[in-house]
Amino acid sequence: MEVIKISPRGYCYGVVDALQIVRQAAKNADLPRPIHVIGQIIHNRHAIEELTRMGVITLDGPDRVSILEQVKEGTVIFTAHGVSPSVKRRAQERGLHCIDASCPDVTVTHDLVRALVAQGYYILYIGKKGHPEPEGVMGEVPGHISLVETEADVDALSLTQQQKIAVSTQTTLSKWDTQRIVQHIKEHYPSAEIHIDICPATQSRQEAIASQAKGADLTIVVGDPHSNNTNRLVQVSEELAGVPAMRIEDLSQLKTEWLKGKKRVAVTAGASTPSQLTRAVIRFLEQYQP
Ligand code: SF4
Repeated sequence: MEVIKISPRGYCYGVVDALQIVRQAAKNADLPRPIHVIGQIIHNRHAIEELTRMGVITLDGPDRVSILEQVKEGTVIFTAHGVSPSVKRRAQERGLHCIDASCPDVTVTHDLVRALVAQGYYILYIGKKGHPEPEGVMGEVPGHISLVETEADVDALSLTQQQKIAVSTQTTLSKWDTQRIVQHIKEHYPSAEIHIDICPATQSRQEAIASQAKGADLTIVVGDPHSNNTNRLVQVSEELAGVPAMRIEDLSQLKTEWLKGKKRVAVTAGASTPSQLTRAVIRFLEQYQP
């Protein structure tokens, strides 16, 4: 079977660095034990299982504050998604050793919203409800920011036209969805200052699939169901490249009936997908004889 290997795909620099930080912590005998990660270090079950085998405890829960409350002692690592100042403060108050694995691209957004609010702006932050990244950013400027996920969320706001409004975004959104919501915001608030903070790694992976998957019969996206950027790749394949897409966590979820009558299959992977999982899928498809 012909396989289009979408490039770039898979691990981004933020994920590589975050994993490296946790692996180094696991090997550092001087750090207070136990070592906990506050939330999933990246949204990928396979990567978390590897860290568990190294003795690192991954804790999960509805938000970072309640996850932190589960920790009694030792070291806490904050994930690549970033964390709000109140979580960092609370960890320090409780005498926990803190390691911050926030991606630098997320930190840029934290700094940006703080600076904008200091200049008198109210922030409309485009992001996904319940995702840890908006939780961290919103926690930088509580009371001066609203999370909007859809056009209806924008309509529901009651801001005055006199208010100085700025827009910022989650790093892993679809750039096409974001443009649509930004356009809607501009219709309501024409003078809003727009900052699109989708990270370069997310943008390049989306642009790659939009152009390179064209002409394929099917796209396979390897990634975790909780990974926002993985789910956006599925959407981009379907909406921009016009190619149906299936998301799988690994080769075990690939169903051969999807391949019936297909000649060309495109393969890509979310920014938090270990490359060996994607390589296994590509190898299988290359050798597959209908
Ligand atoms: S997807 Fe972007 S923001 Fe998120 S960890 Fe990777 S590089 Fe950083």
